Amino acid sequence: MSRGRNGSGIMGWILSAIVVGAIGFMAFSPLFEREDPKLTLSHDGYWNFKDPIKVDVEDVSGLKSFTATIVGPHDEWVVTEVATPSKETKKSFQILPPKGVRNAEAQSVVLKIEATDNSLWGMFMGNTNKQEVTLVIDQRAPLLSVIASSYKIQKGGSAIVIFKAQDDQMESLKIQTNFGKTFIAQPFYKKGYYASLLAWPVQNETFSAIVVARDKAGNETKGSVPLRLKDHAYRVSNIELSDAFLEGKIAELANTYDQTVGVADRLEQFRIINEKVRADNEKIIHAVTSKVSNDLITDFKPVPFYPLVNGQKVADFGDHRIYSYKGQENVSQAYHMGLDLASVQMGAIKSSNGGNVVFSETNGIYGNLPIIDHGFGLYTLYGHCSSVNVHEKDHVVNEQEIAKTGMSGYAMGDHLHFGILVQGIEVRPEEWMDSKWIQDNITSVIDTAKMFIDQQ
Ligand SMILES: [Zn+2]
Repeated sequence: MSRGRNGSGIMGWILSAIVVGAIGFMAFSPLFEREDPKLTLSHDGYWNFKDPIKVDVEDVSGLKSFTATIVGPHDEWVVTEVATPSKETKKSFQILPPKGVRNAEAQSVVLKIEATDNSLWGMFMGNTNKQEVTLVIDQRAPLLSVIASSYKIQKGGSAIVIFKAQDDQMESLKIQTNFGKTFIAQPFYKKGYYASLLAWPVQNETFSAIVVARDKAGNETKGSVPLRLKDHAYRVSNIELSDAFLEGKIAELANTYDQTVGVADRLEQFRIINEKVRADNEKIIHAVTSKVSNDLITDFKPVPFYPLVNGQKVADFGDHRIYSYKGQENVSQAYHMGLDLASVQMGAIKSSNGGNVVFSETNGIYGNLPIIDHGFGLYTLYGHCSSVNVHEKDHVVNEQEIAKTGMSGYAMGDHLHFGILVQGIEVRPEEWMDSKWIQDNITSVIDTAKMFIDQQ
């Protein structure tokens, strides 16, 4: 009796263990997962009925089938159909308009997506996600015309472009360059007009820029900026590192930077400071100075910058410095991205043009560094200061004293490192310190454009 009862008890226990196990298996095994495939569609509610709409599908058990259907007022097209199960957890599809149908007469179409995963859930049917989106068809490209620009741009220098752009569903107005930088245009003077400062980075051999107007449906119109290129020869200096310098300034700086922690070799410390610390510091500078307002700009008339009374130039913008050490050539390199000016110790630094202080901290080799936003993507920075009178978010007026020169950071003597940036790119300060250059290249272009716009 007791044996039998024990036996059936064991059997029952085994059976229930199997049932519980099976349920547990189904509940927790990826084979029986219950999550619908995740669908992400790239659209903004508009479609030019030309470029593909990207659909990203994500599912832990992979995709069994995928169907995309476009429904118009009179027609329905299955444009993508895949029925080969795949274990890949991520897949992308490019949804294109039906072949041979170039023009959608309809104002809108409905895009239906159906995706089923490989799960055995739901009587082995899997989980299905169905989505329907209505897309407004817009096949008209934005209108675009460049109405004024600087006549030339110098290597390492600045320029301006002003253009007219129109589209009911404008998404972005950008100026694309041959070196990967995209400048952002700001609304200018009257509705439908835009302007941007441009910059040719000193390290780049050539320069070209194209205005790209893009609407929400993905239609694009491009217009090239007609700028004459003017080369400028920048100095290449070969500098021999001395042990006195490495044991002095470099040893001192290496003690203060995180990037040199655990590095004992002086030459290696120099390399890290000259390359890694510099790059980290400049990354902060570029981030702070890349912002452009989206507010309407009605005028832009900067006066020439003159940051330091009687400031004598002690180093040029754009110098390419190549270092050697004890017969070892090219142990490190760097570009000097500002103009060094020196007068007296702790000389008063003034911001010739008003603006907003967007940074006022110690920044590695740049030392104590205020940065001022003058609007329209133009920024100035003042490195190695001994003291700074302004704080982030302060507004400064023309001619306000903002700091005193010094030798904080990587500086061998008391001086000002004066930098100018256009949308995050360092440019030749000399241009913006020259009233004739500003007049010929910036303000007269703005005046011409306004005259043209007023006649429209
Ligand atoms: Zn400098």
